[in-house]
Amino acid sequence: MTIRIAIVGYGKIARDQHVPAIAADPRFALAALVSPRAPADEGVPVFPSHEALLDAMAGKLDAVAICTPPTVRLAIAQAAFEAGLDVLLEKPPAATLGEIEAMERLAREAGRTLFTAWHSQHAAAVPAAQRALAGKTVRGLRIDWHEDVRKWHPGQEWIWAPGGFGVFDPGINALSIATRILPSRLFVREASLSFPENRQTPIAARIAFEGEAGRFVADMDWRHAERERWTIRVETEDGTRVELLDGGARLNLDGEAQPVAGPGEYPSLYARFAELVEARESDVDREPLRIVADAFMIGRREIVEPFE
Ligand code: NAP
Repeated sequence: MTIRIAIVGYGKIARDQHVPAIAADPRFALAALVSPRAPADEGVPVFPSHEALLDAMAGKLDAVAICTPPTVRLAIAQAAFEAGLDVLLEKPPAATLGEIEAMERLAREAGRTLFTAWHSQHAAAVPAAQRALAGKTVRGLRIDWHEDVRKWHPGQEWIWAPGGFGVFDPGINALSIATRILPSRLFVREASLSFPENRQTPIAARIAFEGEAGRFVADMDWRHAERERWTIRVETEDGTRVELLDGGARLNLDGEAQPVAGPGEYPSLYARFAELVEARESDVDREPLRIVADAFMIGRREIVEPFE
């Protein structure tokens, strides 16, 4: 069976990753796009809203991939389930935990598939890191997620608006990997969030997790123009050292580089979605979102210089 899929939200990630991954997977056929403002030319019908898509494509669609910013997703997912479609959600799956719970319930009631597609969990080195840590006791975790917001999010105003996540938009990728590979759950003990004076979301965040003081930390910062760093280091009680580099693309075990290979994050993610649709199952992972919500809930707020 071919899954006829529409992409709702034709922005950077839809163009760079979703369109090519769908084109490369014979289980899918791109059927339409929703793009309110940007012109699109992918050889399929383009609609200005999800309502117009669902009206015009009734009976010609099986699924939607929602690639909009998070705050508008619940209404889109609800309409898709009501239309009898399966739903893939780009990360972060929703703006709040309440919304993701609502989506899960709607999917269950409609008997459709809901997939929270955390692309970083599909990075090449993640399965090997997970295997290396299985059954072990972790004694240290250090996440460094440093990049330049001007380079990676030029002109994206939504990331600075309430519900836009700020530095947690990339930082949640690290949390999606950490929660996947660690053998035990992470709990936020303290957080400090740096908000530019003129913005609603943080430009930097530091989280201390439960565990020996100073040994379980995440440092996310959008003010690193010189050098990107997307690393996760884990140490276990038996002395195993796991180091994920380049956002999960590379792995060092006890200081030695390991060979890793995979189909690519988005091809792997669409393969998983096809399996779920076929099996009529859902895969809803809200752990990374819970950690971000907890950090916002108990984080200390620091006001820093205005952004632009
Ligand atoms: P983007 O370039 O700003 O694109 C967002 C798109 O959503 C825009 O084309 C916008 O359309 C559309 N949109 C907004 N509201 C809509 C609505 N109600 N219905 C339909 N379309 C709507 O953002 P992005 O970088 O692609 O990010 C989108 C999501 O993907 C975010 O959750 C982000 O975390 C995730 N993501 C991004 C990257 C990346 O490298 N950029 C990587 C992985 C995941 P108009 O502009 O026409 O209004």
